[in-house]
Amino acid sequence: MQTNFTAEQLADPHVAEAEGILRKCVHCGFCTATCPTYVTLGNELDSPRGRIYLIKDMLENGRPADKQVVTHIDRCLSCLACMTTCPSGVDYMHLVDHARIHIEKTYKRPLMNRLTRGILAMTLPYPARFRAALALARLGRPFAGLLKRIPALRPMGAMLDLAPRNIPAAGGSARPATHAPKAAKRGRVAILTGCAQPVLDPGINAATIRLLTRLGVEVVVPEGEGCCGALVHHMGREAQALDSARRNVDVWIREIDRAGLDAIVITASGCGTTIKDYGHMLRLDPAYAEKARRVSALAKDVTEYLSTLDLPVQDKKNLTVTYHSACSMQHGQKITMAPKMLLKNAGFTVRDPAEGHLCCGSAGTYNIMQPEISATLKARKVKNLEATKPDVIAAGNIGCMTQIGSGTAVPIVHTVELLDWAYGGERPAKLGA
Ligand code: SF4
Ligand code: SF4
Repeated sequence: MQTNFTAEQLADPHVAEAEGILRKCVHCGFCTATCPTYVTLGNELDSPRGRIYLIKDMLENGRPADKQVVTHIDRCLSCLACMTTCPSGVDYMHLVDHARIHIEKTYKRPLMNRLTRGILAMTLPYPARFRAALALARLGRPFAGLLKRIPALRPMGAMLDLAPRNIPAAGGSARPATHAPKAAKRGRVAILTGCAQPVLDPGINAATIRLLTRLGVEVVVPEGEGCCGALVHHMGREAQALDSARRNVDVWIREIDRAGLDAIVITASGCGTTIKDYGHMLRLDPAYAEKARRVSALAKDVTEYLSTLDLPVQDKKNLTVTYHSACSMQHGQKITMAPKMLLKNAGFTVRDPAEGHLCCGSAGTYNIMQPEISATLKARKVKNLEATKPDVIAAGNIGCMTQIGSGTAVPIVHTVELLDWAYGGERPAKLGA
């Protein structure tokens, strides 16, 4: 695509990067076929190509964001299906990241929109606040229907709807500690505790720690870790996202220098995509660029790390697992086979749903901010998953688990919970007796 940026504009490294990305797009439109918002809404401006045009026009003309741009960029799930499909290697992820930062700096959103985004940004990344908010949401749940009837308050209604009826007790797996290997030591990793996941489902990291230590891996939960920054990063809140990234980089570099790490193990693929991008996010910060690159190079989804441990093949079990591949797993990190191979080797019958490339509509805070599109995508995803007649659905991202779990009676668990069970751990409670 031809671009017309001035030399002065290109002196800004962010604009220069955006220009390089834009020039790669050849308008072919292949990406439209796999874009969940284009497939749902049928509007070119809700396709990757349409959004690329909108971003190009806004940046080239040095314009502040306007309502049209914000509407169509806000509808983007950042699922990155377009990047998997694109034959020209257009780096849509970094382009839309830049557009979101530009929007945040130049566009004044309506009051309720600002308020909702502000509440989410000040709550979700902090486990104690998030836990308190979920408790409050239980009290507000009877008003969800009423709120959803008022357009400006629909996100609040969606928030109340999504809040789980039971909040699990805080598990010990998020507390700073070193978990010693229970077999001959063959590795040492740090595990990301994260923010929303340990509140919504502390059993995921508990299963990970049990499994890894049983396999001879020392697992450290370093003091000072926190939210990876993905939630606010996708809102265009650059300063808050970079603060989170810097804090985690400091924590992990200290741990690498102290006793060495083979990997930073991540059990939520949305976080994994962001941490693998720390090297890029902090590339212009001379104090952090190199450290962030080291951290990103060590970041591994738990299934990626487990695949290096040569787990023995187990006897067949009488259990059919349909694997839901989160967008951040398959498109963001390009991890497609490892989770399914691990499950098959562990003795499960593994099925793939139709339209596995399409997002379930969770996408961070998308199911709160865009409840209608999100609900359509959820219904489509649940229908495809249920059509495979699974005993259980497995996924590697808490956002998808919450979203899909709110639309089906089929139990949904994290892949690592099934693996922990298959290799000597507890049967996941969600599977029942
Ligand atoms: S990231 Fe997903 S929703 Fe956004 S343009 Fe690409 S395919 Fe469409
Ligand atoms: S597939 Fe790639 S090159 Fe083609 S329109 Fe989409 S982003 Fe541009």
